[in-house]
Amino acid sequence: MKMKAVRFIEMGKPPEVVDVPRPVPGPGQVLLKIAGAGVCHSDLHILDEPLGIPGPFILGHENAGHVAALGQGVEGWKEGDAVAVYGPWGCGRCHTCQGSAENYCENHASLGTFGGGLGSDGGMAEYMLVPAARQLVPLGALDPVASAPLSDAALTPYHAIKQALPLLTPEATVVVIGIGGLGHMAVQLLQALTPATLIAADIDEAKLAHARGLGVKHTLDTRDADAAAAAIGALAGPRGATVVLDFVGAQPTVDLGVRVVGRDSRLTVVGLGGGVVHYGANQPPYGCQVSVPYWGSRTELMEVIALAQAGRIHAEVEAFPLEQAVDVYQRLGEGKIGEGAVLVSASEWASIEE
Ligand code: NAD
Ligand code: ZN
Ligand code: ZN
Repeated sequence: MKMKAVRFIEMGKPPEVVDVPRPVPGPGQVLLKIAGAGVCHSDLHILDEPLGIPGPFILGHENAGHVAALGQGVEGWKEGDAVAVYGPWGCGRCHTCQGSAENYCENHASLGTFGGGLGSDGGMAEYMLVPAARQLVPLGALDPVASAPLSDAALTPYHAIKQALPLLTPEATVVVIGIGGLGHMAVQLLQALTPATLIAADIDEAKLAHARGLGVKHTLDTRDADAAAAAIGALAGPRGATVVLDFVGAQPTVDLGVRVVGRDSRLTVVGLGGGVVHYGANQPPYGCQVSVPYWGSRTELMEVIALAQAGRIHAEVEAFPLEQAVDVYQRLGEGKIGEGAVLVSASEWASIEE
């Protein structure tokens, strides 16, 4: 049987919508009927930049759907169960993977893939093969289409914030730069998890308005870096910013982060914008931890889903038919699409339209 899929061919070419054979689960594997596959800015890095992930493979690394078939030996799941897919697939055997942090698998270099949609076939298709049942997290009553972005756009900031939690005390100041797919989840997570003063920064007034809509009191346009640094300094006081979460990672945002963090702080660069942190004595200030987190662990995805189930966070989602993938990526690249674009198959689209 055939199915529609959005396939990455090679760097520099747009993805193509093709008919491919529907996969059949082998021993230990699970076949999912995909409900939604999130469109992430990282896909643009794959499509346009030499990230070194060779094609072809089916795109989509933020996936959720329903169990369609179980491979031999898979127990504990049944057809129809609603699940999110844990995206960064590790070896499953090393010390780090055993601790559920497959995002930092010790054997990643020999695996030849970062996960489904990142080297292996992902979820921008009607069905997706998940290589091991441990990569599934139950969604309970959550809508799988609306939950797809939780597996990356929420998990990645959650992991970054959790690492910084000891610093996020009531008198601390946290600056979030880039209020897009990841950043709009980060501000919700910070409000749910920490008492720190929150500043949301972006160069797009619509994104700042969105942050205000999510309850953020302090929003900041960073196009004028001097004015932005002064405004952050005025709010943070002599201590400076305690934590900066940079979801852009370009040179201007990295520079701003270095400039505003105080001593005993944390500068976390999540965005893959190619910015460089230059080290000098007391620059970033003494005691600053610079970190480059990647995605999150399986148990952290369970925690993210628990927050969504409790109504503490929600991903903004806009569904598009799978067939429109090429156009959606084009518009994402032009900044014409808001956060939370999710591709859905024809059958799922029909049920949304009803
Ligand atoms: P997005 O396009 O949805 O959002 C980016 C936001 O940054 C937008 O609101 C944009 O207006 C803003 N922005 C752009 N340039 C800016 C600047 N100079 N100053 C301030 N704001 C600026 O992207 P996304 O899906 O949220 O992804 C963000 C980044 O995180 C991407 O680089 C992506 O590849 C990366 N990413 C990293 C990981 C990881 O594990 N490290 C995981 C997922 C995504
Ligand atoms: Zn992503
Ligand atoms: Zn491993």
